[in-house]
Amino acid sequence: MTKAAFKNYIDGRFGEPAATFDSVDPSTGAAWATMPAATEADVDRAVEAAHRSLRSGPWASMTATARGKLLVRLGDLVVANADRLAELETRDTGKIIRETRAQIAYVGDYYRYYGGLADKHEGAYVPIDKVDMEVTIRPEPIGVVAAVVPWNSQLFLSAVKLGPALAAGCTVVLKASEDGPAPLLAFAELVHEAGFPAGAVNILTGFGHDCGRRLTSHPLVSRVAFTGGPSTAREIVRNTAENLAYTTLELGGKSPVVVFADADLDSAVNAVVAGIFAATGQSCVAGSRLLVERPVKEEFIGQLKRKAESIKIGDPQDPATEMGPLATSKQRDWIEKIVAESLAKGGRLVTGGTRPEGLAGGFYYTPTIIEAAAPDLPCVREELFGPVLSVLPFDSEAEALALANDTPFGLASGVFTSNLGKAHRMARSIHAGVVWINTYRAVSPLVPFGGYGLSGLGREGGLDAIRDYTRSKSVWIRTSDEPIPDPFVMR
Ligand code: NAD
Repeated sequence: MTKAAFKNYIDGRFGEPAATFDSVDPSTGAAWATMPAATEADVDRAVEAAHRSLRSGPWASMTATARGKLLVRLGDLVVANADRLAELETRDTGKIIRETRAQIAYVGDYYRYYGGLADKHEGAYVPIDKVDMEVTIRPEPIGVVAAVVPWNSQLFLSAVKLGPALAAGCTVVLKASEDGPAPLLAFAELVHEAGFPAGAVNILTGFGHDCGRRLTSHPLVSRVAFTGGPSTAREIVRNTAENLAYTTLELGGKSPVVVFADADLDSAVNAVVAGIFAATGQSCVAGSRLLVERPVKEEFIGQLKRKAESIKIGDPQDPATEMGPLATSKQRDWIEKIVAESLAKGGRLVTGGTRPEGLAGGFYYTPTIIEAAAPDLPCVREELFGPVLSVLPFDSEAEALALANDTPFGLASGVFTSNLGKAHRMARSIHAGVVWINTYRAVSPLVPFGGYGLSGLGREGGLDAIRDYTRSKSVWIRTSDEPIPDPFVMR
């Protein structure tokens, strides 16, 4: 079978790549497509094109309203092509088609939201304390943006960067992950079709150590928007020591889900399943630590076990499938290692912990629940990015809170209770960028998203995101016709 071939999109053109690598279908383990491996020279061409487009030509002179219309058109194209993009994302990452279809259709709303905002981000008039001066503040695009995304939900994680960046008038070089880049490279065709001027949006893929490093340290880059793991984030910060680019980081998590005995347990069970087994647990907000109040612990674990064991694992392209493979074999090796270490240190395996039968070739792993013997087990501490839930009991609200905050991460959290006061108290005190009460894994373009601690720096989504892609320019105008007085005194 001939392999599909993808190209980088630089300066408005899809060029033949100088080097390529194979992309693997995680459901079979077989190479199915060739991807362009962007070189440092490709990165330079893309950044230079973005810089030219920022400084001169149609993008530089476009009104905010016109930019907004382009973004809305892009959102419409994403929705119209959602099924095709979803099929590609599922093929290249193993994420189930049920979710990729729904998520990509929703990605269109992110572009529409920021398209609508483009001409509503206003500057200011300052009632200055000097009678002969007028001062205005202009929000200006911060510059060329280097956007770097991981392999999971690449279209979604790109939209929260491209949307506000382009609305603000920036130009972008977006680096897709080397794992599962197909949907983003196909999305480049929609950027082209929408009519963005050459150089305004450049999309390429390649590896982190050369292409990613060059992009995030490039002297013409003023802004880095990164999503990925904490150790790569440290590399990114080192890279930006060279260009001093303003940087936001969306990183991983070890998010707690706290279930009180007074909660609607049937609903909470579904939310816990959504938190850890949806997307095969490969989600930054995975609710990977279940904290459950002791009186309902046995009943709750029993219900969870039954649900986990009934999950339909298999071909991610089948709309009936509920859990697909992990995205890479490396990812499965890491999960197997941490699960083995945790069991050796006293964790009790409730269910899972194996490769499912009959699915050899693909990188499958069963939904796994471990009752943790102590909060320091590796499965409680490490971000696994897989379908592994660690369970710890608690006896009081104070203990629940202490356990919830016992992590260097702080991305998301869930609280299940029928007591309104308790819900508010927990929401106030949990150290996490998102607190979901009696729900889990809900997102919207209207709502800011980001982490505390090792989960990151900055927020994406919501009104303020556009501000993060601008910098203010203060314009002073002297209105007096008199000569400037004493030049040796600051005015
Ligand atoms: P990763 O950190 O390995 O890679 C992310 C991106 O960084 C890739 O495009 C990679 O090529 C690039 N990269 C690697 N080294 C680089 C370097 N030295 N310089 C520049 N770029 C470099 O992450 P991953 O394994 O692909 O994804 C999983 C991680 O992403 C998890 O930790 C997960 O929690 C996190 N994540 C966070 C969010 C969020 O919004 N907070 C969302 C999704 C995933």
